[in-house]
Amino acid sequence: MLYAGDHIAWTIGDTFRVLRGGIQRVSGVQSRIALHPIIAVRGAVPSRAWRHTPSLSNPKLFARDRMVCAYCGGRFRFEELTREHIVPVSRGGQDAWMNCITACRGCNGRKGNRLPEEAHMSLLYLPYVPSLHEDMILRGRRIVADQMDFLLASVPRSSRLYT
Ligand SMILES: [Zn+2]
Repeated sequence: MLYAGDHIAWTIGDTFRVLRGGIQRVSGVQSRIALHPIIAVRGAVPSRAWRHTPSLSNPKLFARDRMVCAYCGGRFRFEELTREHIVPVSRGGQDAWMNCITACRGCNGRKGNRLPEEAHMSLLYLPYVPSLHEDMILRGRRIVADQMDFLLASVPRSSRLYT
């Protein structure tokens, strides 16, 4: 555990949880660890995953695109949305952030196996690859307010999370 090993360089935010451990027999003092919403870890970033592009999933894709269909501009519920490949996979398009956009079932069906220009359908917004901090937000884990401020500070202003 990072806290126990004195690996913390600094913390941000109020203590949001205190873990209490056992009472030491000699001193009679209960061991106690205060958790902060944000911690900086000393030394190198432990995981190589930080240097990688975030993985693509429908929940994250729809969150990136604010649940809005890129073709008709309508806002839909999760079940009504699809992962639309701008260049269809059958025509060499990649299943990746830059080729994927959120579309409602109706628009996706209408576009079919065509390029947007062939279907005379234009994109109302463009795809982009989320940063890793943005990815943490998109994953929708429980994030406390201090953490959200911290994550957003490094998310580019061009991100749709700001709109
Ligand atoms: Zn649509």
